[in-house]
Amino acid sequence: MTDAGDEFDRTADAASDDATDGYDDLDADITSSEGADGAPSLDTDLDDVVLDGLDDDEDSEEASRGLFDDLLSGEPIFENKEVLRPSYTPHKLPHREEQINNMATILVAALRGDTPSNILIYGKTGTGKTASAKFVSEELESTSQKYEVPCTVEYINCEVTDTQYRVLAQLANKFIEENESYIDGRIEDLEDLRERADGDADALEDAEFDDVEAIDEEIESLTEDRESFEEVPMTGWPTDRVYSSFFDAVDYHERVVVIMLDEIDKLVEKSGDDTLYNLSRMNNELQHSRVSIIGISNDLKFTDFLDPRVKSSLGEEEIVFPPYDANQLRDILQHRSEVAFKVDALSDDVIPLCAAFAAQEHGDARRALDLLRTAGELAERDQTDVVEEKHVRQAQEKIELDRVVEVVRTLPTQSKIVLFAIILLEKNGVHNINTGEVYNIYKRVCEEIDADVLTQRRVTDLISELDMLGIVNAVVVSKGRYGRTKEISLSVPLEETEAVLMSDSRLGDIDDLQPFVQARFDN
Ligand code: ADP
Ligand code: MG
Repeated sequence: MTDAGDEFDRTADAASDDATDGYDDLDADITSSEGADGAPSLDTDLDDVVLDGLDDDEDSEEASRGLFDDLLSGEPIFENKEVLRPSYTPHKLPHREEQINNMATILVAALRGDTPSNILIYGKTGTGKTASAKFVSEELESTSQKYEVPCTVEYINCEVTDTQYRVLAQLANKFIEENESYIDGRIEDLEDLRERADGDADALEDAEFDDVEAIDEEIESLTEDRESFEEVPMTGWPTDRVYSSFFDAVDYHERVVVIMLDEIDKLVEKSGDDTLYNLSRMNNELQHSRVSIIGISNDLKFTDFLDPRVKSSLGEEEIVFPPYDANQLRDILQHRSEVAFKVDALSDDVIPLCAAFAAQEHGDARRALDLLRTAGELAERDQTDVVEEKHVRQAQEKIELDRVVEVVRTLPTQSKIVLFAIILLEKNGVHNINTGEVYNIYKRVCEEIDADVLTQRRVTDLISELDMLGIVNAVVVSKGRYGRTKEISLSVPLEETEAVLMSDSRLGDIDDLQPFVQARFDN
């Protein structure tokens, strides 16, 4: 869920640059600007200007004139905002020294030409697993270049690349690409040598070739190899063909290959453990190269679903990333903020508060950094030059709201209809809503948009799911001799949630239903 939230954030941010931050999260504001009941209004004058501009073509030029001038004239708060984004890989990772050293101790084998043990890394989201693993692999690759030991690390995010086919195809293509540049380099060297040998026969004295013809043959054979590589298409081949492409590409020349599978639990959940089974057995058959696997998982229990052979091979070494506590989060934020913010842009309580909020959120450094960045953006919108405690609190609320928006946006249509029925009832002043009332409105909405009508039983289940997601609150109450019933209420801001539902194409024109629902209550 956190990751999905990130994605959402990133798309909203994509349109903005430092100077145009007024547009940051504009989408979210359009859907949430109507002043929700009880929900904090994060809107600033700027948003009103922008929204007015959108509403009314006549005024739009007037309204946006000077828009950027105003923003630019304010003292900037950020020195380098990129440093606070998830995509940034920090060069220093405080409080992860132990884990990083453990990884390095295992992987150093690769630099000696041996096969490192496979490693499983566990820990909740935001505990620095990806950042640490990437840091270590960059160090490994640069050291291997320094000592000219052939060693390659390939990183795959299995949340994105989530089937065996895709994992193998992606790896095959990466190795094919590498082999191509390996061949290019080699041919270049050989041509050099050949040129020197042409003028001076002694040039071949120490070389592995007896004469110029032998060099030519080698160049020819390399060129043939290069031409024989075939890129694996992203769909369409039988899996064993993809596997053998991958296998041949890895084994093309001598080296140690470290394959890093991040979010490995997502791959196993979606596609089972075949990929891991195949990868973990490869070393038995490889002639020239060696493979070692680093699996990274947010879910401590995912190995329960693995074939025992895969489990023992993959978990040769295990490294745990514990959650950060508030003090550690403070250190992390402190380090980053020195680069990210202008001097004196943060008031004293900002970092401790971000750290405290994120510590409650299972010690999630990603959340801590999000809070700090968002607080800075909100201060920027306030046109102040200091980030204060109130900005952190607003940021916390905004991030929570973004999470809700994302959860609601990605609900299946049937759940959206059920939620919409609950919202219609609340809007009409019905409190302690029971399942029967929801079901009546639900049916009516389904008819209106030509959706299948589920049984009341199924709708009750969907309500329970919404409860588990924290979107509604459903408590069972006893009605004495009338039995028990559920009392349902909305636990998220009504206006924002409704706006998200309305952005669904099927629910979009359901506005017409309002008079109908009203009529039911008037009777
Ligand atoms: P995970 O992979 O465990 O979910 P990440 O490695 O993606 O977590 O870390 C989340 C965010 O927190 C990233 O932006 C990362 O750079 C940052 N981060 C995590 N741990 C540290 C640390 N010890 N020092 C500095 N930044 C960190
Ligand atoms: Mg990660």
